[in-house]
Amino acid sequence: MSEEINKQIKDYYIDPVIFTHKFVKSCDVCICSGECCYYGVYTDLKEHDKIMEMKDRIIKSMDDSQTTDTSKWFEAPEKDEDFESGIAVGTELHNGKCVFLDRQGFCTLQKIAYEDGEFKWKYKPLYCILFPIVIYQDTITVDDEHLERMHYCNKSENQTSTIYDACKDELKYLLGEDGFKELELYREEYLSQNGLKERKFAEK
Ligand code: SF4
Ligand code: SF4
Repeated sequence: MSEEINKQIKDYYIDPVIFTHKFVKSCDVCICSGECCYYGVYTDLKEHDKIMEMKDRIIKSMDDSQTTDTSKWFEAPEKDEDFESGIAVGTELHNGKCVFLDRQGFCTLQKIAYEDGEFKWKYKPLYCILFPIVIYQDTITVDDEHLERMHYCNKSENQTSTIYDACKDELKYLLGEDGFKELELYREEYLSQNGLKERKFAEK
């Protein structure tokens, strides 16, 4: 995390690195195969419970690269204060990818939301929605450690945008429209105070 964290919006501190950190313009699983899902994710206990309530529906949309044995979907719960309930539950891996990732690189939790005409992120864990953004010690920052493992979105030749510009919908989801407007104002102030121009980050 950067050392200039003093702005707070709603429940979160803002690490200004999200304004300048380079990233691809948008995710494209046809290119990256959903590589960020190869390692699984930590869900909040409440998210885990919601997923398990949906297990029969999820199984219907899985392919044969995935396991329908629900006892193999999650690791044991563990304490973690970065999660709302104070308990995190990691997803397991199967065939070298998160149990919920299908062979085409799509998340089954997002796929069933589309198939059923629901909001696309209705069943998706928060940390999956946010990546490459992460909430660490109440701060919205960049998940550098995980991003560094990516072969598409972490390659400088593909990074023609910034995390802020590529993840506006995700930030709105987290902060709400009012919180996002406050974030935009803070970004303008931050870039101007630091003599940074937007153009600089939109180019290779
Ligand atoms: S974050 Fe990277 S690896 Fe994950 S879907 Fe987006 S482009 Fe692909
Ligand atoms: S739950 Fe879905 S988005 Fe999250 S890591 Fe697994 S496949 Fe990827």
